[in-house]
Order: sequence, then structure tokens, then C-alpha cells
Amino acid sequence: MTATATKTLEATLAPPTAHKEHRLQRTMAAYRRALAESFERGADTQSAVNDVVTGYTLTSYAKDALKNYVPQLRDTYNASELDDDHPVRFTNRGWRLDHSEERTHEFCWRVPQAGRGNAFWIPLCINPAQRELWTDLLDGDVTVGEFRLQEHRTTWVLHVTVEYEVAEPEEPDDPTPVGFDIGESKLLTGCACQDNTPTNPMLFDGGRARHLRKEMFTTLRRLQERDAAEWRIDERFDHHQNALTDIVEKASREAVEYAQQFEKPVIVLEDLSYIREHLDYGKWMNRSLHNWAFARLTGRIEDKALEAGIPVRFVNPAYTSQTCHACGHPGSRSSQAQFRCTNDECWVTEYQADINAAGNIAGRLNPWGESLSLKPTGDDSPRDGSACDSTAGHRTPSPKPGQTTLAAFQS
Ligand SMILES: [Zn+2]
Repeated sequence: MTATATKTLEATLAPPTAHKEHRLQRTMAAYRRALAESFERGADTQSAVNDVVTGYTLTSYAKDALKNYVPQLRDTYNASELDDDHPVRFTNRGWRLDHSEERTHEFCWRVPQAGRGNAFWIPLCINPAQRELWTDLLDGDVTVGEFRLQEHRTTWVLHVTVEYEVAEPEEPDDPTPVGFDIGESKLLTGCACQDNTPTNPMLFDGGRARHLRKEMFTTLRRLQERDAAEWRIDERFDHHQNALTDIVEKASREAVEYAQQFEKPVIVLEDLSYIREHLDYGKWMNRSLHNWAFARLTGRIEDKALEAGIPVRFVNPAYTSQTCHACGHPGSRSSQAQFRCTNDECWVTEYQADINAAGNIAGRLNPWGESLSLKPTGDDSPRDGSACDSTAGHRTPSPKPGQTTLAAFQS
């Protein structure tokens, strides 16, 4: 069994000549106007978008990308308004890469332009850590899904989504589902379900990430107000971004290590792929930490799990934080950190909210939601939650065996 994995290659365009800079700007402006007009007219099919974009001076690769992208905006992404920093997207048909070891910049990219013979080449500064993938791309070992051009402060950045085949780890019989919840109060919460019981959860605090991001905003604003040199602003930006990347790397590494301690682990994550699709590099500054963290962390956990041979499954994310993991009833968050089950019949009254959510995510590994419905150890009532739902007057007094509070797990 193989699975298709994707990675995003990143390169900075070598500083363009004034003429090329002008053409890049023009492409970006035309694309954004076409995107805005299609969106505002409510074009929700490929042909409706086609009607709008036909008159624009854009290459067919960019128009085709808009035809794919715009109809999804309202449906999948549920967007009510457009961000104003969309990258120019191109379909893979327009992809051309050239390579020569004789040049300072070995790789050159052909920038698609409207009109025959107007495309031009520009040298790329690639991320050295991704050199092998660029070579694979040249050799045809990986294929291009889509590529995007973005203006990033004073430079132009190219992102190339590549697809490649990897061996998919087999899902074992009788696996231990390990759910992960990505949130703002705790950046990452992991919870394994052994014998349908939340077991030894892990908590990774996002406090430093939140702090860093706040600090970055303040620093950048102050530098901009002072009219500081661009290089100085770029330097601070890179500094903070690297620090945040380090946190994501650490959290994802701990997540996979946490999963590895259990027998036959299967990592279960929320399927919010639309967020990941929607996020472009550089855009995270404008997003909530949660969205940024979600996109980056999910991707890194998945990559590291694949490398470690642990299967990863994505489940429906609906109501994972508002449902009681034990009885499946809706509940409420009495505070950010506490989940309260409102079902009188249930043994849970208050539960650490992130662990409750992670437990729900783990429990969704089984699509039928029965055998993995969580119960405290020693409870032999039906596992499908019917005891909790029963309205027949008898109420089994709950011993409340495992009331989970953060304090209990931290001690
Ligand atoms: Zn409950």
C-alpha cells in the first residue's frame, strides 16, 4: 500500500531586473483583480469563473487555477471575504524548471505570462535543506501539484506543492488510538485510549508560542513606526519565525514519541484540511495562532509519524471540544480549561477540556463510534452510551472513578 504525501518546496526569486519586477507586479495585480471579481460575483462553478476571468491578461495556467480555486472558496473554506494577500496560483501544466551547475543559481523557473513568447526565466534561491527534492523534481521522481507566487515583504517567494508516493503504514488490528487536540490554551494535547480509557495524556504548553507571536507584532510595529531599515525588520521577522518553527518541531517530535510508547499506536488528527490548504506561507501572521499552529503542527506530526511508521488517520472534527468523551452528550466549557458534562447520568462532571477533546478525537478512529466509546475502567455498562441516554428512572450512582483534572495529570 502506498499513500500520496505532499511537501511544499520553497524558493526565493533572485532579485529581478526592473523590467521583470514590473511584470511580476502586473501579474499579481491582474490575478488579484480577477480573483476579487469572480468572488464578488459569486461565481461558484468553473464556467462561471471562466466567464469572469476570460477578459483578464493572465496565462491560462493562472485562469485554470482560479477556476479550481474560486468555487471552493465559499463551499470548502466558507470564506465570506477575501484576504488581500492571495498568492498567484498556477496549475501544474505551466511548470517549467531548468538546471545547470554552471550558474550561481543552479535552478531557474519559467514565469508563465499571458501571450505567446512572453514567459521569462528567473533564477531561484532554493532552501538548501530541500535540495534533494528539487533534484527529484527535475528527475521527475516527484510531481508538481500546484505552484504559487507570493510577494513576501521585499522579496518574491515561490511555493511548489510536490506529490510523491510513500509506503503507507498498515493499520494494525486492535490499535491504540492516540488523539491530538491542537488548541490555544495548550498548544498540543495528546491522549491515548487504552481499553477505552484516556491514558497518561501529554500536554504541550503553547504559552511561549503565544508570547513570541505577541512580541513579534510589537517589535515589528515599533520598527515600522521608527522607519527602520528593511533588513532590520526582516531580521527580526526571521528571528521570531524561526523561534516559532522550533516550537512546532519540538511539539511534533514529542507527539510522535508520546504515541510510540503505546502498543500498536494509530495517530488520530482532526481533518481540517481546508485550513491547511488555505494557509499560505507568510500568511500566518494575519491568522489566529490556532490556525497557524494547526496547519503547521498537523503537517509536521503527519510527516514525523510516517517516518516512524505510525499510521495517521484523520477524523471529522465536528464538536470534539463540546462533546463529553465518556457519554457522547453535548456539554459546556465552564472555563477555558474545564469541560462540564451536562448529562446527569454520566460519571463525568468536570474534565480537563483539552484532554476531553483529545479523547474524543482518539475515539473517532472507529467510524461506528461504539466499541471505542470511552468509559472509565471497571464500568461494565453498555459501551454505546445507551445507559446514559436511558430515560427509565433508575440511576446508577456513579462512583466517579477517574475525574480528570489537569492537576491529577500533572502530579
Ligand atoms: Zn458525559
